Amino acid sequence: MSETPNKTPNKTPGSVDAKLGADVFKLDQEPHIVIDVEKCRTVCIQRACLQVCPADLYEVNDQGEMTVNWEGCLECGTCLICCDEKALTWQYPRGGFGVQYRMS
Ligand code: SF4
Repeated sequence: MSETPNKTPNKTPGSVDAKLGADVFKLDQEPHIVIDVEKCRTVCIQRACLQVCPADLYEVNDQGEMTVNWEGCLECGTCLICCDEKALTWQYPRGGFGVQYRMS
């Protein structure tokens, strides 16, 4: 088990970015979000995940495939709800892993 700080830039004190920058992630070996890249490539037009993720974790790689940097996931579930093509297999990280919010 490893512990890494959030990569979000730490900006103005009190800002959302600053607060998110204080969060810590305990990384599991297995991703908790899996993308059906073939479904994304062939039937998805809107690609809502690129727009809705508050942590900006979705990208299209050089091969045109959708990718997600699940390690920084805030576990909000927005991408799952917005994926009209049901191309995501999404579950919470196993117990003890995932985001740990820091409230101060
Ligand atoms: Fe981004 Fe939320 Fe989906 Fe995590 S659950 S990848 S933070 S939209």
